[in-house]
Amino acid sequence: MHEKKTRNFQILTYGCQMNIYDSDRLGALLRGRGWEATENREEADFIFVNTCSIREKAARRVIGHLKRLREMKLKNPALLLGVGGCVAEQEGKKLLDEVPWLNLVVGPSRLDEIPEIMETLSCSDRPVVLSGQGSGTEGPAAPIIPMLDKTDALSPTPGLSAPPRGGEAEDSKEVSPKRAGGSTNPSQALLTEEKLEKSGSRRILSLPPARETRPAPMSSFLTIMSGCDNYCAYCVVPYLRGPERSRPMEEVIAEARSLVARGSLEITLLGQNVNSYGRPGHRDGRDFAALLTEVSAIEGLKRLRFTTSHPKDFPDGLVALFGSLPNLCEHLHLPLQAGSDAVLANMGRRYTKEKYLALVSSLRKVRPELALSTDVIVGFPGETEEQFLETVSLLETVRFDSIYSFKYSDRPMTKANLMPGKIPEEEKAERLSRLQAVQKAVTLEIHQNLVGLEKEVLVEGFGRKPGQLSGRTRDMKIINFDGPANLLGQLVKVTVTEAWPVSLLGKMAT
Ligand code: SF4
Repeated sequence: MHEKKTRNFQILTYGCQMNIYDSDRLGALLRGRGWEATENREEADFIFVNTCSIREKAARRVIGHLKRLREMKLKNPALLLGVGGCVAEQEGKKLLDEVPWLNLVVGPSRLDEIPEIMETLSCSDRPVVLSGQGSGTEGPAAPIIPMLDKTDALSPTPGLSAPPRGGEAEDSKEVSPKRAGGSTNPSQALLTEEKLEKSGSRRILSLPPARETRPAPMSSFLTIMSGCDNYCAYCVVPYLRGPERSRPMEEVIAEARSLVARGSLEITLLGQNVNSYGRPGHRDGRDFAALLTEVSAIEGLKRLRFTTSHPKDFPDGLVALFGSLPNLCEHLHLPLQAGSDAVLANMGRRYTKEKYLALVSSLRKVRPELALSTDVIVGFPGETEEQFLETVSLLETVRFDSIYSFKYSDRPMTKANLMPGKIPEEEKAERLSRLQAVQKAVTLEIHQNLVGLEKEVLVEGFGRKPGQLSGRTRDMKIINFDGPANLLGQLVKVTVTEAWPVSLLGKMAT
């Protein structure tokens, strides 16, 4: 009798935490069907690239990567190649024109259908396309994919618990591909449109927890909501991820409890705009502050974070929690985007410089040591030199601990795409470099002020030098220090000894 050959997969992830989460979930769903994750690309029977299209540069990098995978196909014609995430959603069938050797194109809301499709998909089939830009099979070969049983496709995967999911446009750093197939982060079925309809409301994101016994990561993501209603002029997220939907609170709490019981010390609540959690029409209406309070109370949870927050949706009750929840970490990512009221208005951000500054001031009043990070876009259409300087000036006023800064790039479907007054590339690049120089000095100064202080560090991995460990402080600083490997995954006290713009050096406190 022949032993059945193990099928290996590899997932490459670009983009935000939401994509990392989706990849983790897909990995778990595939493992549930007998696939195994491989780190060796040569051994893979299926390579899936989970993509980000938030910025044009990110989308082009992804397409470049897909083109390079052609080499793999030439070496191994049986290899199946799939693409998911925002590029798949945005481009749909059109992607096959640029990358005709793809076998599968799947938008984020159809990810849970992949394991079923993979049961029968072979290279002689037409490519399968499941996205908002068009679904079906494409190309010359005859399709042999059976109709999916939607009930099965939507059921929670036995033995897998609900995973974290989230991230948002403003958060979408162009991170390098992450292999997610071997992640310990659990997974389960993803929301689909059908499931939304069945729930009786398009505002509910239901991901019922499933059983999970494997250890959870020391630091876990947990999706609480998805989608966005804000339609900022430059952002494709509302078009690609759909309207805001909140998970029922009891689901979130159950998943958080499960993560902590299985070893997570830190949880980051995720969503494109977490502050919209529980808005009227989103299930029972209990708001984000209520959810945060409940999760914070879970015994054994040492660190609680959330991302991303829209500054226009930050009520006093939420601000107050930074002064009352001891495990809510003293770091907040609060996207600014621009420091000029005129540019903010053109972006459709619905707050002013004054309102942003007032929010920062309230937050620092309740938690003076709060570290702030932000996102900034330079060269938005029509941005004048004076308006750009207002942004620089705001960075100097607020003194963010770190920023993620980008040149504006046209994105399809967005309002800004059609706006007049596009800034030439060289000018955008020059503004970006001036802005970053100012911020670099601020960050370095903030870091230098930490020298001599003792910090609690969650040890996440190894530093670059032999014998060195690396971890994060509660205020999100990366710190390297010498220590034994058995401290991985633990909280330790480290005294800061040296400071650079991107990281700190420390010594274990005695
Ligand atoms: S708040 Fe604005 S930038 Fe953030 S996801 Fe929504 S539309 Fe995009």
